[in-house]
Amino acid sequence: MPTIEIAKNSGFCFGVRRAIDIAKEIAEKNEGTTYVYGQLVHNERVIEDLENQGIVFIEDIKNIPQGATTVLRAHGEPGTTYQVLGEKGITSSTSLKDATCPLVTLVHNVAIKLKNAGYDVAIFGKHDHPESIGTSYHIKGKDTYIIEKPDMDHARAFVEYLKGNNIKRAALVSQTTMSVYGYKKLIDNLNQLTNGTFRNIPLSLTDVSADYGYVDTICNPTKQRQSGTEELARKVDVMVVIGGVHSSNSKELAQKARELGVETHYIQSAAQVEKGWFAGKERIGVSAGASTPDVLIEEVVGKIKEVAL
Ligand code: SF4
Repeated sequence: MPTIEIAKNSGFCFGVRRAIDIAKEIAEKNEGTTYVYGQLVHNERVIEDLENQGIVFIEDIKNIPQGATTVLRAHGEPGTTYQVLGEKGITSSTSLKDATCPLVTLVHNVAIKLKNAGYDVAIFGKHDHPESIGTSYHIKGKDTYIIEKPDMDHARAFVEYLKGNNIKRAALVSQTTMSVYGYKKLIDNLNQLTNGTFRNIPLSLTDVSADYGYVDTICNPTKQRQSGTEELARKVDVMVVIGGVHSSNSKELAQKARELGVETHYIQSAAQVEKGWFAGKERIGVSAGASTPDVLIEEVVGKIKEVAL
């Protein structure tokens, strides 16, 4: 009979749990409608549950009513969001509750300090991810250089950007949910192209003497989920990774498992589990990103037991 094992540290991180608790608490106390700007966290099931509790999710900031009770998502926001909301009378002293994860705020602060220390700051992240958009605001806005992939072509393009713009001091930060292995690979490639000029800058920024460097801003909960998935993927025959369609950290887990050569299925719900995935398999692994609720993990494991055992 096949075994089913769940990767260590699967499911909610503290930042996601905190954002959900904030939204629920505000909605419970608020007699009117509570609005959340954007996806509070990147998981459809979580959003659905909160919608069922009366919370309204708005993608276009223009549609948030004047003075409305508003919660900001865990991924952080650019300053322009606060300005637009302020013009609607929505501020932290009136009806705004900011659920930005403290570890995202930390990245913003690191980027600001690096910029103040004379660095041209670039991001290892996704162009369209709200966290990178929020961090970019503190650097050069839309002109911030974002490196999406760690391969040699992307590393070379960045080095050419530095040379072409005569940039003598540059530092990288990472979106909190990127691959640890990917960030390392990017730095290795940059160092290969520049004779080892990219040095580690401590997160505390106590030493900013390097002219070219990088700060490790991938958050610990992301690292723990990646190592838990990696450990499990090395010993199973098939992996099922659960995460939202837009969940960067969950998709990284699936990518990691695939890179290790194990058959991997990335799903959003138990309904997507297929019996055929487990034919002839003895060890089944399940992993879930930081925005995946426990109930979803339980449902998927239940469905796997139903079809595979
Ligand atoms: S993944 Fe990291 S940065 Fe994002 S909400 Fe969780 S703890 Fe915060």
